[in-house]
Amino acid sequence: MSPASSPFCGGLATARLLLHERFGHPAFRVHQLKVLGPLLAGRSVLAVLPTGAGKSLCFQLPALMAPGLTLVVSPLISLMQDQVGALRRRGVAAAYLNSLLTADQRRLILDRAVSGQLRILYCAPERLAALVRPLSRAGRAVSLLAVDEAHCIVEWGNEFRPVYRRLDRLVTSFDRPNLVFRVERVRDDRERFARLRALVRVPKGTSIVYTPTRRLAELVTRALLRMGVRAAPYHAGLTADMRRRVLRAFLSGHAPIVVATSAFGMGIDKADVRRVIHWGPPRALEGYYQEAGRAGRDGRRSECVLVWHPSDCAWTDGAAEVRRYVEAPRCRRGTLLAYFGERGVACSGCDVCGVGSYRPSP
Ligand SMILES: [Zn+2]
Repeated sequence: MSPASSPFCGGLATARLLLHERFGHPAFRVHQLKVLGPLLAGRSVLAVLPTGAGKSLCFQLPALMAPGLTLVVSPLISLMQDQVGALRRRGVAAAYLNSLLTADQRRLILDRAVSGQLRILYCAPERLAALVRPLSRAGRAVSLLAVDEAHCIVEWGNEFRPVYRRLDRLVTSFDRPNLVFRVERVRDDRERFARLRALVRVPKGTSIVYTPTRRLAELVTRALLRMGVRAAPYHAGLTADMRRRVLRAFLSGHAPIVVATSAFGMGIDKADVRRVIHWGPPRALEGYYQEAGRAGRDGRRSECVLVWHPSDCAWTDGAAEVRRYVEAPRCRRGTLLAYFGERGVACSGCDVCGVGSYRPSP
């Protein structure tokens, strides 16, 4: 399997850096590499390691490289407490759910998991059922599921199995059915701007326009302002005060369109973004899916449009999967999800498949 279908950002080189920086170890042991190699490439791994072999590192480290939550199912309460304590001392947002906590404490931890504040969550097998439903409802992706002391599964009995199967579905779905993905090829920048203008003219809701450079963010903003569209730029070249003001104006609806570089990401918690438009191809599909995914957090139909022309491809440094995404006449959603290792998802709307098939879930 190619690394392109893995949910982890970066390969073994990144893992080595994290090992050094976060865990203070100079190098991996051989058996850790045997687990991490295929795991980081997106494959499921069954590892049988002796005690003291550095087994927990094999899931704790990939957890730091994944966008979603890492769930660790562990039957041993004292072990999960030790590991969570050690992770927190290293600055990793980790917690556990087990029978020793009060109902209030469990609710608090669940809230943090659902809202994306936790990186690693340990839970006892019997707590898993209560966990899967709220995560699933919140659309919170689980990037990695680790079953510690997996030889105990036999003892956990039959109740564990249906929960485990449901969890497997939760782990695998990155799909956002309310998003429509479109790719539009234009001849030049003049035509691209005309398309952008037409797209943002639709009066309802807010838009984010992503540009590859700060300069373009400024140019496009100015061109929109000249047409009387209330747009604002956002990039790392602005002062912190200016960036705060733009973010506030966007969140409150006073600046319905923000033209931004990829610096516009942190702190955007706006549910009703109706469209995310990309001025040219992104550098990687992972970043694209993250940026495009800022549309439609409220579950309503929203669109993600990428407007490109062939000379743009110099920006992407030849990222093959990005080229395939824009050029191949293949389902956009299918291409994106395949990148995350997910196949066979029915498309609920893209420019290749058509856009009429989506029914919002009640
Ligand atoms: Zn499609």
